[in-house]
Amino acid sequence: MKTDVCLTFDVEFTIGGAFSDPANKRPVGEQSVFCEVDGKSHGLGFILDTLSAHRLAATFFVEALNVQYFGDAPMSGIVKTILAAGHDVQLHLHPCWRHFHMADWQAQLSDTPPNDSMAGRSARDIREIIKEGIETFTRWGVAAPIAIRTGGLQVDKTVYHVMQELKIPLASNIGVAIAPPVDSDIHFFAGRHSIAGVLEAPVLSYSDLSFGQKKHLKSLTITGSSWAEMRHLLNNARRKSISPVVILSHPSEFVKHTDVQYTQLAPNRLNQSRFKKLCLFLEQNRAHFNVLTFAEGASRWKAQSDDHLELLSVPTWMAMGRMLENKFNDIF
Ligand SMILES: [Zn+2]
Repeated sequence: MKTDVCLTFDVEFTIGGAFSDPANKRPVGEQSVFCEVDGKSHGLGFILDTLSAHRLAATFFVEALNVQYFGDAPMSGIVKTILAAGHDVQLHLHPCWRHFHMADWQAQLSDTPPNDSMAGRSARDIREIIKEGIETFTRWGVAAPIAIRTGGLQVDKTVYHVMQELKIPLASNIGVAIAPPVDSDIHFFAGRHSIAGVLEAPVLSYSDLSFGQKKHLKSLTITGSSWAEMRHLLNNARRKSISPVVILSHPSEFVKHTDVQYTQLAPNRLNQSRFKKLCLFLEQNRAHFNVLTFAEGASRWKAQSDDHLELLSVPTWMAMGRMLENKFNDIF
C-alpha cells in the first residue's frame, strides 16, 4: 500500500493590523495571496508553478468569510485560478471577518472584540458560520465543500457535530502543536479518525525534542520544518503505515514580509527551496507515495478509517539543524 500525502494550503486574506490600528490600517486582499515581488507572484503563483512542474495536485482550503469586507470578487477570482490549474478547493473559515458585518466596526472593536475561534461556540453559531461559507461557495459557482479546515486550527467537538448534521464528511481541523483542542481525546497526531461521524485527517504533528518524559511537539509546515525533517517523517510514516500525511502551508510562507500591509516583500528562498525539494521527492517516489487531494481521498478514507495514535519523532540533531537553518534564514 502506498502512503497517501496531502499537500494543503490555506488561502486567506489578512486583517493587516486593522483590528489593532483601525485608524491607519486596512485588511490586505489579493497581494497577501499572490505576494508579488517585481511583478512575479512568489505566493500562489509560485505554488501553482511548482505543483505543475512536478505534476502534483493539492487541496486549497479557501477562506470564505472575508467577503464581509471584500465582497465576492477578489477571492472568487483566486478560486477560479486554483480550479483552472486542476486542484481541489475546500472551505476554510476565519470568523473574525464577520466583525465587518457592522458598519461601525472600528467603534465596535472594544465593545465586541473580534473572535476568530470556531471553538467554544454554540452549535447554532457554528451552523450559521458554516452555512455562510457554503452559501459563499455557491455564489462563487464552486462545488459545495466536502471538507473544512477551521481558522487557526481552532476546533472542538461541537464543530464536528454540526459538520455531520450539514453532511460535510471530511475535516482537517487539528494540528495538535498549533492549537490543541480542549477535548484531549481528539488530540490526534496523524492518520484519519472518526469524530462524531466526520473523518478528521489532522495536520501531521511530531515530536522534535524530548525533556525526560515531556515531548515538544511541532506540526508539519514548510516554514516550521526542514527538508531533512520532512523526508524523515515521510519515510517513517510509510514504514509505520500512517496515512495520509497532511502537510500545511500558506502562500505567504514563500515570501518574507517586514510589514503587515505586505508592501515590502522579498522571496523566502529557504521555504521555496524546501517546497521544491518536497515536490521533487514526491514525484520521484510515486511508487511509495500517493499525492492526492481531499476530494480524491474522500471515499476510500471513509471506507477504511486508520486510527493511528502513534507520535512520530525526529532526532534531536535534526531539530537543532532546522533551528539554525531557520535562524539563518530570518537574518539574511
Ligand atoms: Zn487560516
